[in-house]
Amino acid sequence: MWLRTFETIKLFLFIFLLVSATHGFAQVKTVRFVDGEGDILNEVEYILHDEHIYLSVESLKSVFDPEMKHSYHTPSKQLTIKTKDKVIKVWMGNPSVNIDDGRQVITLTVPPRIINGQQKIPISFFQEVLPELDDVSVIYKPELQRVRIMQNNSFPSDIPKNNRLWTVIIDPGHGGEKDVGCKSQTGIYEKDVVLSVAKAIKAQSKQHGFSIHLTREQDVNKSRQQRYQIANRFKGRLFISLHCNSSFSQNHKGIRLYLNNPYGQLQFRTAPIPKFGDKDLNIRTQANYLQQSKKFATVLEKELNFFAKDPIVISEFPIIALNDVFMPAVLIELGYLSNLDDTARLSNQDHISELAQTIVRAIQIYSAKVRQTAKPDDQTSAESSNPIER
Ligand SMILES: [Zn+2]
Repeated sequence: MWLRTFETIKLFLFIFLLVSATHGFAQVKTVRFVDGEGDILNEVEYILHDEHIYLSVESLKSVFDPEMKHSYHTPSKQLTIKTKDKVIKVWMGNPSVNIDDGRQVITLTVPPRIINGQQKIPISFFQEVLPELDDVSVIYKPELQRVRIMQNNSFPSDIPKNNRLWTVIIDPGHGGEKDVGCKSQTGIYEKDVVLSVAKAIKAQSKQHGFSIHLTREQDVNKSRQQRYQIANRFKGRLFISLHCNSSFSQNHKGIRLYLNNPYGQLQFRTAPIPKFGDKDLNIRTQANYLQQSKKFATVLEKELNFFAKDPIVISEFPIIALNDVFMPAVLIELGYLSNLDDTARLSNQDHISELAQTIVRAIQIYSAKVRQTAKPDDQTSAESSNPIER
């Protein structure tokens, strides 16, 4: 009897698995929408139709305008959307978008469609139409299915005057003949990757008026002392050290962020606890900036999460290289040169430039946040105490 029951259960289980496999309790495919700060607005299910990504009309409401209203007229296949004081008309199967009775007409690269009996809009609608309805920029990353909707006014087009008082120190690790850092199987060196990212950050930051100093501009060796002396002399508001990772496992990949916390989790249990004594003062001084460093790391994490495929990991360790830097500091491991995917990415100039852009954006957001919270007195004292900028 028991055996029979068991056989029946097995049969049901088999049918269940067969149905699951053919009808799919498949993983739901979604597009992630984030705002200018990198916060998630919504994860929206999508339908793939003729190799194009389609979303429901309601998704617009959840990520763009909660007040939005829409109606559909079946005979004419006309979808009317009312949002941001504008009336938008689209027709299923037709790429034309009519805004405010023809005051503006946009042609979509992919038309809206009826799929499974419902009106669906292509993902290109977000990029092609939303900037016409509101003061927003929309970035779409098809490889990650992520869309970012940013309010333009959060970053004024004219450079804030005090950006030039904002000195950021970029520290490309290693350098010179003797210290190449880690090396990929394809023969690229860490010292070269980090220098090219640092130079790209410098070039792009200039457009925003930030004053950027590199601890090395060429393939030369610089001691730890030389690096922190440069940082402290230029009175940086932020110190960003760039490195690449390497691992015995070729599967390890992705970007890692490290904060210098003398009391943080130790990487190796056998490592000595940071010593008190004459070094104590320096360690404590970096520790004074830990909260600000965390703030920047959190902003950077969100920015990188939009840009990178693998989740970003933030760790806190006692990092000797950052001990004598008297400003908020973050060490970025840009990827693993022991991993083929990461190496391919870090050998690609477009990736380098996008990576730099992401870091520059994080600097922008962080500096704006600091300025918002700073008292007016702080600004003036910072101004007068910065001899470099005068
Ligand atoms: Zn390194």
